[in-house]
Amino acid sequence: MTATHDTPPPADAHSGDGTGIHTLETHPVWGDESEIVDLAVDWAARRVVRHTDPLATARPASELAAAAGRTITPRGIGGAAALDVFDRVLEPATRSQDDPLNLAYIASAPTRAAIAFDLVTSSANIFGGLWEAGAGGIFAENEALAWIVGLLGWPDTAGGCFVSGGTSGNLSALMTARETAKARRGGRPAGGWELACTEHAHSSIHSAAKALDVDVVDVPTDARGHLTGRELRSVLERHPNVFGVVASAGTTNEGLVDDLEDVAEVAREFGVWLHVDGAYGGAGLAAPSVRGLFAGIENADSVIVDPHKWLFAPYDCCALLYRDPELARATHAQHASYLDHVDREAWNPSDFALHLTRRVRGLPLWFSLASHGTDRYRDAVELSLETSKAVADGIRESGHLRLVREPELSVVLFERPGWEPADYAEWSHRMAAAGTMLCIPTTWRGRTVLRFAFVNPQTDPKWVLEILETLR
Ligand SMILES: *Cc1c(COP(=O)(O)O)cnc(C)c1O
Repeated sequence: MTATHDTPPPADAHSGDGTGIHTLETHPVWGDESEIVDLAVDWAARRVVRHTDPLATARPASELAAAAGRTITPRGIGGAAALDVFDRVLEPATRSQDDPLNLAYIASAPTRAAIAFDLVTSSANIFGGLWEAGAGGIFAENEALAWIVGLLGWPDTAGGCFVSGGTSGNLSALMTARETAKARRGGRPAGGWELACTEHAHSSIHSAAKALDVDVVDVPTDARGHLTGRELRSVLERHPNVFGVVASAGTTNEGLVDDLEDVAEVAREFGVWLHVDGAYGGAGLAAPSVRGLFAGIENADSVIVDPHKWLFAPYDCCALLYRDPELARATHAQHASYLDHVDREAWNPSDFALHLTRRVRGLPLWFSLASHGTDRYRDAVELSLETSKAVADGIRESGHLRLVREPELSVVLFERPGWEPADYAEWSHRMAAAGTMLCIPTTWRGRTVLRFAFVNPQTDPKWVLEILETLR
């Protein structure tokens, strides 16, 4: 099958039809791309229902170059050939994030509905920065955000937008926090601003602090590893320049939820912004069995949740929410002569984060939520929690493994007594190379341990426990 574009247009195409006038009818710029479109859409449709390959893995660029050959050429290699390279060489050199036994880092398990709608979203090519350009898409995104706002227990005046990921969401929220403090306290304090968080705060908080040029003040945790109101108070008493505190609703490494209720109370008392990073764990708000852990989140000033982590949306998607979106608007709205006519009263997502042009990346989540209903989302999150509990129980009763701590959400930390870091690394590598399971060692209080993060409702705890027998 050869697309028309595979036959390059004559070299003099740009010079027109001899009359000196270029006509798009005789020389369409891109040729007839319909066959390329069919090929790409067919590939996508097959991938959505195909089982993933756990052996797919990164390869050195030199190997990829040899296998792919030259793809960017003056005359193009044609859609069929380019898709063939992607299918044979490139995609198999990427890790299957939706493999049910990919339990490393935090994987992603989007619904087929969400993935399919990502294709629709791209096809509609909506400019999602301004209401006047993207109203219908932005409206739907806001419906999905409103569901999360409801789970937070926030007033329905709350809102925000979708950004690319937790890193960008954290930065935009903390930028709003810093600008709000600047406005309220009449400028930058001598000595500069400070941001408070514990050692378990995500690395992106440190990146945001760097970007904002603020110092990070470490708040000690309690014995469980939580940020508490008590410790926060003692830090704020000594650090008047703190403009904001970051609490975690699900730390990435261990899935811990800080004491949000007490932390919110102390933050309010000191007039400090509370940002809750729920990039991974915020999905737990949908699960009644753990909802109690999040008590107090209704008093946060900003929250992020990554639907591409545990809310079954494809990359890249982070919900960034503010209790008072006007503070975000005051921080992020961009002004330029060519933007003069923009309706500033409208809900312009570009006003709520550090971005202007954006795709309506919340639409796949909206479509999947609308298709399946929020009850199924609740059940799917509960399923990952049940899997974590079953695996934690199995580890506790195994006799050859030790559960490092009770999981609070869906991260399970455990160790194999007697093993050295090299043993863990060798086992982890062997499991990955055989395509059995992806499980990467991490550290907890200075010790090497193994870590599972369960975000895929298709993961069967029985499979996991069987594989753990190889640790005997
Ligand atoms: C993953 C994660 C982030 C970063 O999110 P990205 O989408 O990867 O940028 C931030 N905070 C926490 C707690 C996370 O788990």
